[in-house]
Amino acid sequence: MKDVNKFGINTICTHIGEVKDEQFKGAISPIYMATSYAFDGVDVKRYPRYFNTPNQEMLCKKIAALEKTENAMIFGSGMAAVSTSLLAFLQKGDHVVLQQTLYGGTYNFVVEEFEKFGIEYSFTKSLSIKDFEEEIQKNTKVIYIETPSNPLLTITDMKAVSKLAASKGIVTMIDNTFASPINQTPIDFGIDIMIHSATKYMGGHSDILAGAVAGSNEHIEKIFNMGKNLGGNLSDLMVWMLERSLKTLNLRVKRQSKNALKMAKYLAVHPQVYQVYYPGLKGHADYKLAKKQMKNFGGMMSFELKEGIDALKFQNNLKLIKPSMSLAGVESTMLSPTQTSHALLSPEERAKQGIKDGLIRFSVGIEETKDLIKDIEQALAKLK
Ligand code: PLP
Repeated sequence: MKDVNKFGINTICTHIGEVKDEQFKGAISPIYMATSYAFDGVDVKRYPRYFNTPNQEMLCKKIAALEKTENAMIFGSGMAAVSTSLLAFLQKGDHVVLQQTLYGGTYNFVVEEFEKFGIEYSFTKSLSIKDFEEEIQKNTKVIYIETPSNPLLTITDMKAVSKLAASKGIVTMIDNTFASPINQTPIDFGIDIMIHSATKYMGGHSDILAGAVAGSNEHIEKIFNMGKNLGGNLSDLMVWMLERSLKTLNLRVKRQSKNALKMAKYLAVHPQVYQVYYPGLKGHADYKLAKKQMKNFGGMMSFELKEGIDALKFQNNLKLIKPSMSLAGVESTMLSPTQTSHALLSPEERAKQGIKDGLIRFSVGIEETKDLIKDIEQALAKLK
């Protein structure tokens, strides 16, 4: 399994990063649950917080293969991956440029914590490359992007950002959660570090909380050095579950993307729908850019109902689609970002990012779209 590049995506998902069961020859990875290993006679002292138990190490190989990088690391949550990566590259007196539209938790982490570390930050005014350039300062060390973004599915030009950053010796990081490595491999566009809430598509069944980071050996070593101090590792049971989930990543994400495109087209012409935000719709402002960067457009979208239709009542009327937190499970879910992912942002900040109170985020699952459409129809009919 040395040359992973020769394998197709489903083979990578299924076989790379398996822990071989040398003792019983089982067909799947055994779990090594030990938190204590011999300290003598082993190259690296194994301890779960050092991210180097057998299951942890092997899972990282699968994630690195998916992101086409040299190395990867896994964490106890997406936020542990985000915070550890940023803190690994930023010190007192450094500056980071972040894109304007970001997952609410990342935004909160920056505005609530960075000042106490003496780290300076700026958010771009828009996603245009000119606006990224404008925010760069002499002490800028990192540019951080998220594309497609949560919850409005904005698209950032990865190639333009990486070119700008490289010209100034700045490291680039992307939150690649929404696309997953199936729909987008940012390293192809020059991005250095890929971050995931593995709680989402990588896990895919709404039962794992995890994070992942992929990049070069040099970059991952830097993140490891911070990670071992912060201690945001993942338990081996969750590691094992994540490895199992990743075997079906391509199958799930492809189906979710296909379903989402159908659902976006249906919602876009619905008389009770005001607007749909999905990069796969030709009317989306960045459709062409999304097409260039993404293989499929993903399973996530947002939409607004027409004025006077209560978004909360609509979601509570749904019978099949679950009005629930988080995203990317095989089951379809909806939520109001103002009450969940972006609840901690002030109304002014939400308005700046274009997140309206009536916005509904739709995570499309693997069900039959005709059943999802029927569910939406009956939920809307009750509001007439
Ligand atoms: N990044 C994005 C785009 C997310 O949507 C989330 C969570 O919703 C996170 C990061 C944080 O991940 P976690 O909940 O696994 O900490």
